[in-house]
Amino acid sequence: MTATHLMSTYQPLALSFAKGLGTRLWDQSGREYLDAVAGVAVTNVGHSHPRVVSAITEQAGLLLHTSNLYSIDWQQRLAEKLTALSGLERVFFNNSGAEANETALKLARLYGWHKGVEQPLVVVMENAFHGRTLGTLSASDGPAVRLGFHPLPGGFLKVPFGDLAALDKAHQAYGQRIVAVLMEPIQGEGGVQLAPTGYLKALRALCDRRNWLLMLDEIQTGIGRTGQWFAFQHEGIVPDIMTLAKGLGNGVPIGACLARGKAAELFTPGSHGSTFGGNPLACRVGCTVLEIIEEQGLLANAKRQGELLLARLHAELDDYPNVLAIRGQGLMIGIELAQPIRDLTLIAARDHGLLINVTRGKTIRLLPPLTIDEREVEMIVRGIGRLVSVQ
Ligand SMILES: *Cc1c(COP(=O)(O)O)cnc(C)c1O
Repeated sequence: MTATHLMSTYQPLALSFAKGLGTRLWDQSGREYLDAVAGVAVTNVGHSHPRVVSAITEQAGLLLHTSNLYSIDWQQRLAEKLTALSGLERVFFNNSGAEANETALKLARLYGWHKGVEQPLVVVMENAFHGRTLGTLSASDGPAVRLGFHPLPGGFLKVPFGDLAALDKAHQAYGQRIVAVLMEPIQGEGGVQLAPTGYLKALRALCDRRNWLLMLDEIQTGIGRTGQWFAFQHEGIVPDIMTLAKGLGNGVPIGACLARGKAAELFTPGSHGSTFGGNPLACRVGCTVLEIIEEQGLLANAKRQGELLLARLHAELDDYPNVLAIRGQGLMIGIELAQPIRDLTLIAARDHGLLINVTRGKTIRLLPPLTIDEREVEMIVRGIGRLVSVQ
């Protein structure tokens, strides 16, 4: 097969899968792989989960789409479930993460507009990733993803991740113009970077004091990935706005922007919309995914296996000179190397039947399905050990 009819935005490996089940994938020749990427934190309950499969097939046979001109029962149910789990109050459904973040950014603008702020600013973090639309690209960091796309929409103020003093300085410089802070609780594409302990809690207090909306991008960290439904729950806070996508549909495209308090009341009929967003298929699958996570105890499993994986990686890799740091929470783990290893993902797949991902050039990122067991944790540790040791 040739890729010449596709725009060359990706450089895919010469590897293509025909089938998946649980934590495993099979390529065209029938070879089995252990999937420690999960379609980039998407297939959290595993590939082809039988209940997801039957939700899709049943709903496809009943009704796929009616549009938001009519009320959609599954959308109401998913919103009810998500708000109960998160402590937020209302939901707008999108089709992707970037769109959910666009929704959040539009809410921040409306919030400022209602306060009479003429040139609102949203504080974002260095090293952040929020998506590929013009707005979310502007909120993201890194020259590579932004190169050539100027002029990008303005209204963002970038501060170092995890630095509270920088937020005070921003307030001194811009005062009332600041309306919101947007951040990932753990930076995913940025190399699995955790904020210092206590940062989110202090940020919550700061946002309350300044009347800024705290907007958390939980597109990668949400839906059980870190061992809680949402990463903010480790810190005992609730944001004003949260965005979700990836794991919510387990592969069926869906995004969501949740809000509470004033932020939940800002949209009025006509002020935002989506043709596909919140369709019966995506929302029914979302409900099914949440049920599976609950019934199979996957939050506890993500926590337990995540702690085991982190401990085992430390035990096996800490002495390798090329390993700079191993960090993560739940089943979102990064192994930062001193030197990038060429063709690492290809070698892992070819020689060890292990699918891994590399971000920021030299950080191995592990995002296995939340259903992973001890034996599979050991398979990952052994595979990574061999990969790192031969260099
Ligand atoms: C993947 C991701 C996005 C973008 O989601 P898309 O569905 O690709 O638009 C935004 N923010 C974070 C933190 C992500 O991990």
